[in-house]
Amino acid sequence: MAQLTVDIGGSPGINCRGYCEYCYFKKVKGETELGCRYCLPFKKGCDYCTRGVKEEYSGFKDLRSIADETLANLQLKQGEIERITISGGGDPSCYPQFKDLIELLGSTEAPLHIGYTSGKGWDDPAIADLLIENGLTEISFTVFATDPKLRKQYMHDPTPEASLVILEKLCGAADVYAATVVLPGVNDGKVLEETCRWLQDRGAKGLILMRFANATEQGLILGNGPVMGKQNVQSVESFRDMITDLRKKFTMKISGTPLWDPEIGSPFAIRYEPDLLAKLPRVTKRASVISGSIATPFIDTILSACGSVVSVVPVTKEIACLITADDLRGLDLASLETVVIIPGRAFVHDAEAEEILSRDGIERSVIRGPDMLTADAETSMGMTRDQVLEMEMNGFAELIQMVNRYGK
Ligand code: SF4
Repeated sequence: MAQLTVDIGGSPGINCRGYCEYCYFKKVKGETELGCRYCLPFKKGCDYCTRGVKEEYSGFKDLRSIADETLANLQLKQGEIERITISGGGDPSCYPQFKDLIELLGSTEAPLHIGYTSGKGWDDPAIADLLIENGLTEISFTVFATDPKLRKQYMHDPTPEASLVILEKLCGAADVYAATVVLPGVNDGKVLEETCRWLQDRGAKGLILMRFANATEQGLILGNGPVMGKQNVQSVESFRDMITDLRKKFTMKISGTPLWDPEIGSPFAIRYEPDLLAKLPRVTKRASVISGSIATPFIDTILSACGSVVSVVPVTKEIACLITADDLRGLDLASLETVVIIPGRAFVHDAEAEEILSRDGIERSVIRGPDMLTADAETSMGMTRDQVLEMEMNGFAELIQMVNRYGK
């Protein structure tokens, strides 16, 4: 069965009725060429790492273009459409002809899925009925807090009460995955527990909590920190413990990113599975694997269990797939082998990475590793434990094959 993605265009913040206080796109300026896995070998910078990563489109697409593109894509698909996902850089709830868009997609009779919305563009509770009548089956909805005053203050939702009525109706009719960026002192503690209770009582499928980042080492890129001047940030450990604690109090699925999904044991759930670790290939060569500081100890444990004697090397940045050239500059080159594997999705141009990592006169070759070694909470939310384990088995098998193929 085929799936279809309908891209409505738009840019975060610009097509969101203004920036939320905590939005990571708020301070991104100009065009920066970061370098990435899609760049040509001889040229740093491509459309993805200069514009795509900022989800920068010229504005929402007009309805006519969306209709033409959707029709053309439908004709290319064989068989029944399993689902239609509405996505884009801007927030779908702020799409000016939202009602017409939903009626148009609803006329295909395929189940509809909204990949991400804040809901702050919706002012009329009747929107929920429109969505349900037109076949909405799944939605990811940023709630922030179920206290309307906090939604108004931090998300700049002009009609928070209406958005919450819509959320409530959708919880009763579709799979709702709520999401919240946690700002310590604002929407954590009692406020968060009330939000969890509200969502659980109304039938939400789950809540994904996102740790707020306010500095480069916590995962910001494009020089956009601090996002909020005086906002406190939780340590990764206290964030993980908060999830563990909440999980004990509620039956609804609650998970966090970057750590963790208590039901599945991810990220890196495979570390608890000796039988699966035994099925991975053995590491027979030497290469330095670089990762973010959160994932490093997990990857090190797994590779050691597969026979590796070379330690995984962390950069200061906590999140592996947001590593940039500056993070590589901070590494102690003496600790590196002559073959270095960087995360597949790191924002570094391969040639620049080799130059940085060979600055001490020792020539090192840089290999781009697998795109994903595990599932973060956003990925694992709709997955079973077996699916996550399979994903991790595939990722680590690929990584070990790279070490054995290119290593010394
Ligand atoms: S809705 Fe999302 S993308 Fe838009 S401003 Fe808020 S956080 Fe940014």
